[in-house]
Amino acid sequence: MCGIIAYIGNKPVMPILIQGLQRLEYRGYDSAGIALVEEGELTIIKTKGSVDSLSDLLRESKHQAVYGIGHTRWATHGVPSDTNAHPHASCDNKLTLVHNGIIENYKELREQLISEGHKFISETDTEIVVHTIEKYYQGNLEEAVIKGIQDLQGAYALALISAQEEKIVLVRKQSPLIIGVGEGECYAASDIPALLPYTKKVVILEEGDIAILRKDNFQVINSEGKEKRVEVIETTWDAHLAEKSGYPHFMLKEIYEQPTVLKDTLRERVSEDQLLLDEADLGDLIPNLRKVYFGACGTAYHATLVGKLYLETLCDLEAETEVASEFRYRDVPWVKPAVGIIVSQSGETADTLGVLSRLKELSYPVIGITNVIGSSVSRESDRTIYTRAGPEISVASTKAYTSQMLVLLLLALSWSKKRNKLNYEKERYYIKELKELPFKAQQVLDKSELFLEIARELKEVKHLFYLGRLQDYYTALEGALKMKEISYLHAEAYAGGELKHGPLALIENNTPVIAFLSNKSIAPKMLSNFEEVRSRGGKIYLFTTLDIKESSFRIVKLPDSDMLVSPILNGLVLQLLAYYTARECGASIDKPRNLAKSVTVE
Ligand code: GLU
Repeated sequence: MCGIIAYIGNKPVMPILIQGLQRLEYRGYDSAGIALVEEGELTIIKTKGSVDSLSDLLRESKHQAVYGIGHTRWATHGVPSDTNAHPHASCDNKLTLVHNGIIENYKELREQLISEGHKFISETDTEIVVHTIEKYYQGNLEEAVIKGIQDLQGAYALALISAQEEKIVLVRKQSPLIIGVGEGECYAASDIPALLPYTKKVVILEEGDIAILRKDNFQVINSEGKEKRVEVIETTWDAHLAEKSGYPHFMLKEIYEQPTVLKDTLRERVSEDQLLLDEADLGDLIPNLRKVYFGACGTAYHATLVGKLYLETLCDLEAETEVASEFRYRDVPWVKPAVGIIVSQSGETADTLGVLSRLKELSYPVIGITNVIGSSVSRESDRTIYTRAGPEISVASTKAYTSQMLVLLLLALSWSKKRNKLNYEKERYYIKELKELPFKAQQVLDKSELFLEIARELKEVKHLFYLGRLQDYYTALEGALKMKEISYLHAEAYAGGELKHGPLALIENNTPVIAFLSNKSIAPKMLSNFEEVRSRGGKIYLFTTLDIKESSFRIVKLPDSDMLVSPILNGLVLQLLAYYTARECGASIDKPRNLAKSVTVE
């Protein structure tokens, strides 16, 4: 949520800020703005709407400044408007900053600052930060920041500049921020993809870090002003991974990357005759483990529902999963020995991190599953398993979801072995299934014409249902989420047996019901549920790995696969359906309204 970009060097800063914001726009697109300093004068240009609107405003601009900051906003406090757009400036217009996060005590601070003579013009929580820093500013920005942040409660990644000093100061607390290191120049951004065209050398700031960027060097200090040693890491991601490469949308590109992503996620983890997931090896703990607690939100939460099923089925192990925003505040009978598994694409999801720290407080070992090296999840977990999906730019998660499920399947299989539940034949069987998975994923993608045809029918409706049982129900939940998220059609998911307890009342002539079926043992039950729908006029679109003959349904046969692998393939199906439907509806696919990626606020 919210994208921050900053640059200091010898090049004109404006195009760097604009391009950086374009790359960060999936984090928020309510408004965009930049601030730069030239000959001791601070200039702020900002506007409601997208980075393109900002870029239009700047078209005639002649600014040659060589340092500045930029922001693309996902509003939490105050409507999207020109005034509420970041950067926000101090009363004397000498200091300015951009912010990602929420200042929880902003009301008290605002009253206090008003009584001290500060004037506010926006409705944001952010504006109090710049006035707080102004209060302490005596010519040295980092000194004022060290004092000012003592007054703040909440989450904040900040980038600040002053008209009087040639430097950028950064602060990180519970919201991500990284430094990019160039030759005679420094960058900062909310995440790595924004910096890929400029540098692959990055420093991932840690909780509580304050950084001072200058042209030729940077320095990281703690909240007492003491210098810290930091590691400069070299990312393996390539700039083209963060580009559309000819696809009309990032979402479609990312859907089509999945055969490669699945292959990459399996690399070195599945050999000819062995499954190896060293990252999940917790030694003697695994055979005696009694429970797993998952922490995840949104699509990652749907991946953990499948993960729970994997652990129950393959490891005979109890697992609990609930959306992290609820789980972090709930008291449950805490069982030991148990392990926490935290799943987050960005590794920065605020609610998920809340569960992580709760589990750590309770002294549980934690395994993090994330896509981003050096993210908070990877730093705070005892072990990290990377999904190797590459940068995911589209707000609607696709390849991260399927690779999360694949990692969870690998983890369950490796623990199953440790718990003596996976014999040699079974292991060989799963190795074969896993090795075939990327090819089957390609076969699903090859059916895209079919999905487009169905999408043309779906775009005509206002409501639709998703149906499945067991693992197919979890697919249905993700299917409905994806459809709502990007096409804005109202979609609801139900377990097959639940329709008759209420929602059947909403089925009328031609109401579409998207159904998944990959579990032979419950096929007869599902078929009866379909009949219930059909007798009320509903129209069934069935996606199945089984051989079902039924002329009154629209059936799409999916590649044969084991029922534990099928949720991964079904992931591609539901994504293509949502994508094409949204495209037919003319929706803004990569940047759906009111949403943003990497949800760093609670
Ligand atoms: N709270 C700030 C605002 O509403 C920043 C929001 C965010 O980080 O998403 O402007």
